[in-house]
Amino acid sequence: MPITPEQQAEIDAQRATPRQTLRAVSEGMEAHLYNAYPVLDHGFVRVIDYMGDDSAICQAARVSYGKGTKSVQNDEGLIRYLMRHWHSTPFEMCELKLHVKLPVFVARQWIRHRTANVNEYSARYSILDREFYIPQPDQLAAQSVINNQGRGEALTGAEAERVLEILKGDAARSYDHYEEMISDDGKQGLARELARMNLPANIYTQWYWKVDLHNLLHFLRLRADSHAQYEIRVYADEICKLVADWVPFAYKAFEDYRMGGAALSAGALDCVRRMLKGEEVTAENCGMSAREWRELQEVLEG
Ligand SMILES: Cc1cc2nc3c(=O)[nH]c(=O)nc-3n(C[C@H](O)[C@H](O)[C@H](O)COP(=O)(O)OP(=O)(O)OC[C@H]3O[C@@H](n4cnc5c(N)ncnc54)[C@H](O)[C@@H]3O)c2cc1C
Repeated sequence: MPITPEQQAEIDAQRATPRQTLRAVSEGMEAHLYNAYPVLDHGFVRVIDYMGDDSAICQAARVSYGKGTKSVQNDEGLIRYLMRHWHSTPFEMCELKLHVKLPVFVARQWIRHRTANVNEYSARYSILDREFYIPQPDQLAAQSVINNQGRGEALTGAEAERVLEILKGDAARSYDHYEEMISDDGKQGLARELARMNLPANIYTQWYWKVDLHNLLHFLRLRADSHAQYEIRVYADEICKLVADWVPFAYKAFEDYRMGGAALSAGALDCVRRMLKGEEVTAENCGMSAREWRELQEVLEG
């Protein structure tokens, strides 16, 4: 269970006490504030706080005194211009603070994004919960035969059962030992900071993660991408929905220019120009490696 009834009651209490503010408010984000959105079997994402909205981006770009909005169309056009031309600092004026519960092996990928502020649940101070990520059957997949960094077909039948049994059994056994080691029942008991080293990477951790919109979009570009590992992608997908409601113009521009767009090398651009002139461009005469050629075809075919 991602959150307990007591935790839900705390969230409900926070949402039941609105306050007046002079600050910029995004109605779309207000609807999400504090709510926990489940991800994977025990994880969640929830917004703790945010700063700014679409018009804050325009206000910063224009370095204006007031609201900064000339008209809604103007704001959307400006945001699209900024995104298109990599004028990124106005997007840094918006911030998002999330509370995330995630498996440790996902946290290891996530923490590589250095341009955020993080505070993680302390397993030196506190005892970790008995919560382990066990993949759903459709995600219990074999190693991909075409991509060393990916998965292929889902395991089925006895093979799937065998793997699930190992995952569940190891998690239960290592947690039993964790409890046994830290127990001070008539013994000294091992320090929590040491006992945790025996726990597997599918145990859940939690953190507060604060990031500005520019770096958040960079994170989403990489982690909501189809090449990202499923277990981090589902978190990124959930965050995408929040961002779409928080800063709809910025998110739309991001979808258009970053998620849906593609960067072409000079060589690839040359191939496209030759194709437009009617030349038959092939893997042999494109002047690029086989892999680059394949990737260009993927971009052009959609
Ligand atoms: C599909 C995929 C596969 C990956 N595989 C591996 C892997 O096999 N092994 C592995 O180790 N990592 C891997 N990574 C992690 C990847 O190399 C990056 O570390 C991660 O995506 C964070 O990206 P970033 O550095 O751009 O983000 P951030 O750390 O948030 O940085 C954002 C931007 O800030 C700038 N910046 C931040 N810090 C510095 C700095 N110290 N010096 C200069 N510029 C800085 C850079 O412009 C950077 O792009 C993988 C990532 C993806 C998405």
